[in-house]
Amino acid sequence: MSSNLLSMPKVELHTHIDCSLDFGTAARLKPGMSFEDYQEAFIAPEKCTDLSQFLMCIDPALVLLQTKLALQISVDGMIRQLAADHVVYAEIRFAPHLHTRIGLRTEEVVETVLGQMFESSEREGIYCRLILCTLRHFNEEQSFEVADLVARYQTQGVVALDLAADEANFPLDEHTNAFRRANTLGLNTIAHAGEASGADSVLETLDKLSVSRIGHGVRSVEDPRVLERLIKDDIHLEVCPSCNIQTEIFPRLKDHSLAQLKDAGVKLSLNTDARATTNVSLTQEYERVQKALNWTEQDLITSSQLAIKASFAPDDIKRSVQQKLEAYTVKA
Ligand SMILES: [Zn+2]
Repeated sequence: MSSNLLSMPKVELHTHIDCSLDFGTAARLKPGMSFEDYQEAFIAPEKCTDLSQFLMCIDPALVLLQTKLALQISVDGMIRQLAADHVVYAEIRFAPHLHTRIGLRTEEVVETVLGQMFESSEREGIYCRLILCTLRHFNEEQSFEVADLVARYQTQGVVALDLAADEANFPLDEHTNAFRRANTLGLNTIAHAGEASGADSVLETLDKLSVSRIGHGVRSVEDPRVLERLIKDDIHLEVCPSCNIQTEIFPRLKDHSLAQLKDAGVKLSLNTDARATTNVSLTQEYERVQKALNWTEQDLITSSQLAIKASFAPDDIKRSVQQKLEAYTVKA
């Protein structure tokens, strides 16, 4: 691993808590588990048939993440990984409703994660904020509940509402009203799109959900009008290259649309999406893109600069992170 890239300060906007249980954390949650058992249960195959097979690989983590203690351990483990990766600002995300199987209320889930997020990130000297996800297969009422949670905790570290999960098999209809309410309340909204579905899904998401960032959006290149729209509306794409290869959006990293998106002038950043399920750190993600697509160190710093600009961090944190990125640029 390049020590240069490891020590480079990074900003990450798109990484899921339930997809990021490293071995040490998983073994704390399930004592006695061997590394082989961990790999088998928590890391998805290098090539999944599609996004829905990939999503099924998250269940072993969800089974464990149903108590306050388990949530605390998982968030602490994730923030240790972020710090080890020299991520200086991260927006981590999860769907509170997935952690209520044995009786936790969604409010307790959110409060537990927020408490641990601040405790661990202060200890590690990094900044973190939380995004709450509703999921494609949720009904309208559940989506409203997530939007209401974002509103309720917006002054306590929750910064946005996201729509995640299986876009190819579930339409937007159940979620449009919740996003309308969130936008009317002035909350930040983002959505996964243009991953398992094509460029049309990006356009539909922008039209119906009025989001300011898109998770993935990598299939926007299939339609030049969508690229134009992304630029015109100043939409930031949270690109997660390794995960896209794993879910068969592109056969190899060389074939990824990153170069086309970048050349077209679309604003984007590199992210891991699923540190455990995809078995990747942000440093590794940078290394792979550098190798396969000839990105320079400056391109990688630019990724973080665009990310912090598109982030939902308070202004003082944005300034502090921008200074760290600029200091590194000068050194390089
Ligand atoms: Zn994602």
